[in-house]
Amino acid sequence: MRPALLIIDMIEEFVHGRLKSPSAESIIPAIRTLIDNARKHGIHVIYLIDSHLPFDRELSIWGPHALVHGEESEIVEELQPGGKDLVFRKRSYSGFRETGLASVLRDLGVDTVVLTGIHTHICVLHTAIDAYYERFNIIVVSDAVAAFSESDHAYALDYMRKVLGAKVLTSSEVAEAFAGGYK
Ligand code: ZN
Repeated sequence: MRPALLIIDMIEEFVHGRLKSPSAESIIPAIRTLIDNARKHGIHVIYLIDSHLPFDRELSIWGPHALVHGEESEIVEELQPGGKDLVFRKRSYSGFRETGLASVLRDLGVDTVVLTGIHTHICVLHTAIDAYYERFNIIVVSDAVAAFSESDHAYALDYMRKVLGAKVLTSSEVAEAFAGGYK
């Protein structure tokens, strides 16, 4: 297995801003540990960031958020990218849609995406769906994703497991797997 660690939408808007989840801050330490672990073991760290233009379709549902030039689309301080990390900006829920992510992952030799970030039932779920159609294996880190409510979170984890064949693992299980030679 050749994994990449994907960090979805850990930006000001969703952690501290208008669309924050009550549990968004609580997953930062687990993601931080996974990032450190991935870097240590030569696993690619990839950020997917909502960066909207004012006419993007989602804005009619959620209102203006994470606009491309605003501070709200900046990655939170605790999870800043390092020199070798990649950052993809996206205009819809899925990190794969119109970003070139799938071809970059293939060029890097990645066959498994490890999903962290927010929200479990929106951007994490849509990214998982596209990862499925792009033929990547999917791991979702249960304590490193969060949603607006516990029921949204639980539903999405269950859906990804049952419908997309995702493995749902804890951050310590994933850290162990990274250390165990998943390079
Ligand atoms: Zn958005």
